[in-house]
Amino acid sequence: MLEVKLNMKEGIRDTLVFDMKDFRHEDFKEYEALVPPALLGLSYEEVEFNNPLSCAVRLLRYGDDNVYVTANIETNILVECGRCITPFEVDITTTVEQLFSIGSESLEQSEADERYYDGETVDISEDVRRALVLEIPVWPLCSETCEGLCPQCGAELNIKACSCEPMDEAPASTSNPFFGPVKNARK
Ligand SMILES: [Zn+2]
Ligand SMILES: [Zn+2]
Repeated sequence: MLEVKLNMKEGIRDTLVFDMKDFRHEDFKEYEALVPPALLGLSYEEVEFNNPLSCAVRLLRYGDDNVYVTANIETNILVECGRCITPFEVDITTTVEQLFSIGSESLEQSEADERYYDGETVDISEDVRRALVLEIPVWPLCSETCEGLCPQCGAELNIKACSCEPMDEAPASTSNPFFGPVKNARK
């Protein structure tokens, strides 16, 4: 609440596009933003961005018209456990630090780590989107000890064990259905 009050003058923004007109007479400015993930194109099949991105953004004048941007982003996402496919939430945070110089992006420049802006608006949406995507866990686990699903009957082993025999690592030929009945017949 305190932080919100400090920024009351600017209010909480809902974009990551900053108008340099607001920044004309200052060398440093802080913003808070709650940005809908859809605005950054953050929509994926396996990962749900359900909550606004909570962003603390600082703009610092650098040289004459260059702007150094620092942004701390926090949000949480809904992912599926890689073992038991149960959805669970993960907090992710990331930081973007980027210098924007006046100019326009050219092909050679875009390969370097440089960003340009037109002198009027700085848009860090793409920078934030890229940084967040890197934070999505590749193989999320609901818990280190998640038992996953039984590969044979699909039972959720975290809830209760099933009665399947543990699968042996034998080659596929031994799972030939014709071997089964013979074994059973000997019992
Ligand atoms: Zn799991
Ligand atoms: Zn089973």
